[in-house]
Amino acid sequence: MRFENRIKNFYKLANLLVENKKITAKDIAYMYAESGIDIFPIYHIENGSCSCPAKQCKSKGKHPQTNKGFQDASTNIQILNIWFQNKILNLGMPTGNGIYILDIDPRNGGLDSFETIQKKYKFSPQTLTVKTGGNGYHCYYKSYLDLPKVGNLYPGIDFLGRGSYAIIPPSNHISGNNYSWSAKYKFLDDLPEFIIADIRNRNKTHEKSNWEAYSLEKIPEGQRNEKITKLAGLLINKLNPTLALNLVNSWNLSNCEPPLIEKEILAIVESIVRKEQRKNKRASL
Ligand SMILES: [Zn+2]
Repeated sequence: MRFENRIKNFYKLANLLVENKKITAKDIAYMYAESGIDIFPIYHIENGSCSCPAKQCKSKGKHPQTNKGFQDASTNIQILNIWFQNKILNLGMPTGNGIYILDIDPRNGGLDSFETIQKKYKFSPQTLTVKTGGNGYHCYYKSYLDLPKVGNLYPGIDFLGRGSYAIIPPSNHISGNNYSWSAKYKFLDDLPEFIIADIRNRNKTHEKSNWEAYSLEKIPEGQRNEKITKLAGLLINKLNPTLALNLVNSWNLSNCEPPLIEKEILAIVESIVRKEQRKNKRASL
């Protein structure tokens, strides 16, 4: 679903649920599906423990019931019928695609660092918020940008974006509490600019440390092909193929022990270029 519609439908539904706290998880799941917002089943807490078969579950009431987790999320009523057949479930919603969350965890200092960023950036959160079962908060935001998840974006605060999911109300929690919508705020704010900047900076720092690792690493015989394929892939994404080939060649000479023969490097680079060309062709169709 397009960003705009997903955001609009989510906003409407969340407001409805802020007002009506007595709707069951099952009914809420169908309401989400009917609004075109995909959800998926999570194990719930039953008699003080996780309803999953594991004897010593490490993520009680928080992990998916399906193999691919948030990638299985669906709006298909028939699939929901199977998931909810005589079963109580917690609910998960993939994040990203317009909807983003600051996940504030009080056990790791999240509340303090949320206060710090409010002072530092002079912003006050007035956006739809869920009180989590663990006494933390999920602050929901909208953005038309495609942003990945970032763990510990601030101390004790995760950014839930593409590649992540949130447990949504009325799911239950090992503490005995349920996730619930706070009645305080009813708007879905734009994701603040400073958060977007911090996410981008974080990714840049990661990239920089990746390059640093590449420059220092000595690659033994058994790992040369794999490492060269990775490096060539990164460079071809950013540079023209001839320059990428030259750089991979000189990196091979200085970092691989012993260096791979030039012909093999050419073959690796050519195969990546062909793959990229096929990808671009598909994307432009
Ligand atoms: Zn479990």
